[in-house]
Amino acid sequence: MQFNVREVEYASDALAVSLPQLRAPSVASNASVGNRMQESIPAHLPAAPAHIRAGRRMMDSHGRTILDLRISITDRCNFRCVYCMEPDVQFQPRENLLTPSEIIRMASVAQSLGVRKIRLTGGEPTLHPQLTEIISGIRAATDVEIAMISNGSLLTREKLRSWKRAGLDRMTISIDSVRPDRFARVTRSTLMPEAVIAGIEMCVAEGLTPLKLNAVLVRGQNHDEAVELARLARRFGVEMRFIEYMPLDSARAWDRSLMVTAQETRRTIEAVFALTPTNTDDRHSTARTYVFADGAPGRIGFIAPVSNPFCGACSRLRLTADGNVRPCLFSATEWSAMKLLRKGASDSELANFFIDVTWTKLAGHNIASPEFVQPARPMSAVGG
Ligand code: SAM
Ligand code: SF4
Repeated sequence: MQFNVREVEYASDALAVSLPQLRAPSVASNASVGNRMQESIPAHLPAAPAHIRAGRRMMDSHGRTILDLRISITDRCNFRCVYCMEPDVQFQPRENLLTPSEIIRMASVAQSLGVRKIRLTGGEPTLHPQLTEIISGIRAATDVEIAMISNGSLLTREKLRSWKRAGLDRMTISIDSVRPDRFARVTRSTLMPEAVIAGIEMCVAEGLTPLKLNAVLVRGQNHDEAVELARLARRFGVEMRFIEYMPLDSARAWDRSLMVTAQETRRTIEAVFALTPTNTDDRHSTARTYVFADGAPGRIGFIAPVSNPFCGACSRLRLTADGNVRPCLFSATEWSAMKLLRKGASDSELANFFIDVTWTKLAGHNIASPEFVQPARPMSAVGG
């Protein structure tokens, strides 16, 4: 099945979601590693210690501080990437999704607690009919860096300009293949990769930089395209990042054998372009970056959550499109901010909520362990 990217209606409310119930057992263990243990957090969000709440920062019990909030502004998408969404994925009814003012309020409270960067994601955030208002609202309420990640299918110069004017600082574009047949197969869309490449050019021209490109290599789909994708970094002077395929697909088809590790991808690229590691990576960055040894512009980044987890430096929290805060991408538990928002909670109550959720963050996700259980919600619902 293939989708015409421009025919997707944003508010396909006819599709109701039925998510598995989140489990709510009885014993808490913040020191535990792995999401199996995370399922044993109590049903009611425990308060963080008083001195942590008093600090007005989002600190977890492992000494990490939240600086980066990823907000999924919609669960809808016009692609059905094989590693992300099944063709018949079910979306939430529209009334279950955060409104622009709720998104802006959460962003503002998060900044008051030290968040420095907000990334708008989805689903496909550019499908949101009020995207410009969301960006300008966050800009008016905060001085955080505002970034957005998109599949690049719906970009125009006019839209990019209006988002930039509204306060968007930079973009990340996902592109998994430069070959038309492959691109169609991986994204299950009718779009040509040239359209996304044109979007990349437009982002650079409009100054939505530093621009990053994301690719997920899946064995049997696009595993042999690392070098072609790396050439995009050289061509546009941007960072091309390879993300390991994670067990967050709605089809639950992930298998270790389908994943192309960062190490393998690096070896493949280095057979053609020698790479030199940079020593400038932010401590909290998920990517390890390299420049081209021949001095060509651009960089290559490797994000290896499966083969080399980076949980120790995690500074992220996620807000889902339906208003839940997730301590980790791989959490089995998430906590409803929506309930609080719609009950009329004050900013101070929302701040305590953020602080309390952060305190429940586990030390790591234990994704590499046979004990690991895939979370109920896919990446598209969680916000990648
Ligand atoms: N639709 C937008 C896009 O594709 O850029 C934003 C949302 S998408 C969920 C964000 C990022 O998550 C994309 O770069 C995508 O490649 C990545 N992603 C989705 N499912 C993934 C998976 N199972 N493993 C690794 N990365 C995944
Ligand atoms: Fe849509 Fe992005 Fe998921 Fe692809 S990765 S299906 S573009 S949300």
